[in-house]
Amino acid sequence: MKHNFLVLIAIFCFAASCSNDDDKVAYAEEWSYDGETGPDYWAEIEQESECGGAFQSPVDILQTQTDSTLQPLDIHYDAGIKISNVVNNGHTVQFNFESGNYITLNGEKYELKQFHFHELSEHTVGGVHFPMEIHLVHVSDAGKYAVLGVLTEESATEIEQFDFLDNYLPLAVEESKTVNNTYDINKVLPAGRQYFTYTGSLTTPPCTEAVQWFIFKTPVEAPVSLIEDLRDAMPAHNYRPTQPLNGRIVKESV
Ligand SMILES: [Zn+2]
Repeated sequence: MKHNFLVLIAIFCFAASCSNDDDKVAYAEEWSYDGETGPDYWAEIEQESECGGAFQSPVDILQTQTDSTLQPLDIHYDAGIKISNVVNNGHTVQFNFESGNYITLNGEKYELKQFHFHELSEHTVGGVHFPMEIHLVHVSDAGKYAVLGVLTEESATEIEQFDFLDNYLPLAVEESKTVNNTYDINKVLPAGRQYFTYTGSLTTPPCTEAVQWFIFKTPVEAPVSLIEDLRDAMPAHNYRPTQPLNGRIVKESV
């Protein structure tokens, strides 16, 4: 990551003779997962963001409240889901979906936009990280966010439903590849659909709040080869540390 950053600066300096200080600062202030641009400084670096807010994500799932009135997740993903492309944005590897896949919450449709990866997991259970976490990001017409989190364990064996992801790796920073095939993302979700839920934020700047989170209680297994290939493509430890609950309650469906 540091190496790529220096290359970026070098390319910029070559193109612009480094005459414009404002642009140089813009590069230097890009957030990261490490050091002086790491999570502790996001609120400072990204002044327009909500990263310094009181109701942020991720959180440690420790004390929960079982709520039998919570409805099962109403998921409508096509068996042949269309992915437009996969991009390495320097923070994560992200698959962007074409429209038509959604979840319904309280009668409102939330369209599935993209999914991406964090290593280690961002949410912890009793203070313990999983090797990886997958985030499926949904947005409603009103601009509200709902994210499904899939905690992922490592499996030594190949797992067919994850094969397609590895077809697009390695992927260099700022590289994007078109995805022509269709996939069944339902198979990436755990068979048991019980979940933890709470209201938090996006876990990267702008750390937008009022995001409804659903973390599946059952982890899935992903092949260790895929996890290693993703690790090579993403910055080391691209997870934000857990944030204080500040009175929020994590509820648990049954
Ligand atoms: Zn995420």
